[in-house]
Amino acid sequence: MKPVTAKATPAAIAMLRQATALAPKRSKVSDGLLPSAAHLNQNPDSDHNTGMAVDLTHDPKNGIDCGVIFKNLKQDLRVKYLIFQGVIWFPGKDDRVYTGSNKHMKHLHVSIKDGHGWDTYDWFPWMGGPKKWNKVKSKFSKVKAIKQDPASPKED
Ligand SMILES: [Zn+2]
Repeated sequence: MKPVTAKATPAAIAMLRQATALAPKRSKVSDGLLPSAAHLNQNPDSDHNTGMAVDLTHDPKNGIDCGVIFKNLKQDLRVKYLIFQGVIWFPGKDDRVYTGSNKHMKHLHVSIKDGHGWDTYDWFPWMGGPKKWNKVKSKFSKVKAIKQDPASPKED
């Protein structure tokens, strides 16, 4: 079993916070950071144990469509793998059928690559997050965000 950390990584926490900032009414029923006892039994070597994974509730009615997010996160270099609605994806590979017992029908699982636990850059850049956040964030964080992602649109 992978030892269980006391706290999820900032990158994992940031995904849930950013989703809530973008979609304040979203459901959080299937959100998750650290493993429950049941989860530990089911999957003793989960990336949730190390705080390097996050579960995001699928709630398209309230602005969090994990189908769309699954597709878009394939561009995010922090992603180690994704699972949603019976499909698993690894960088550089095609979608594959996920054979685990939990098909992830109600949430998207995101595992984060080693070395990216502190990277809290916008997980949802296609949703216009930074534009919204710039209203409340300092100029400093704006500059930093652009530097961290050279692929982001210049006008942002
Ligand atoms: Zn998970």
